[in-house]
Amino acid sequence: MTAYEEAFTFETRGEFDCSDITQNVSRVVRASGVKKGMALVFAGHATGVIAITEYESMLLRDIKTLLQKLVPTRGGYNHPANAHAHLRSLLLQPGKVVPVVGGRLSLGTWQSIFWIETETRPRRRTVRVLIVGE
Ligand code: ZN
Repeated sequence: MTAYEEAFTFETRGEFDCSDITQNVSRVVRASGVKKGMALVFAGHATGVIAITEYESMLLRDIKTLLQKLVPTRGGYNHPANAHAHLRSLLLQPGKVVPVVGGRLSLGTWQSIFWIETETRPRRRTVRVLIVGE
């Protein structure tokens, strides 16, 4: 049983900026040498989301619309300044688990792993990847 951990960072340009991190995670899987197991992808941030679906520009617009509908920017919240950013992050979660099979991420053809920024300002984000398996 191997447990291999690595982190990578990237910059976001503000609210709803999306960053495809599939290749970054794949790189960690290869570096781990694990053939069968799982990849935990997690961001230790109180705002922002890790999503898994098709990374396509029109769909990204639809995700933005959905998040704005579910959690409007102004909603009479109690938390100062950026409550909506936390609440959007709460809905979709800052972490995901993906199976590793044959030494590769077992993603579907149209699945990508990507970051959706929910914070209003540009941020530097760190994603930690833990590969466990054999
Ligand atoms: Zn806050």
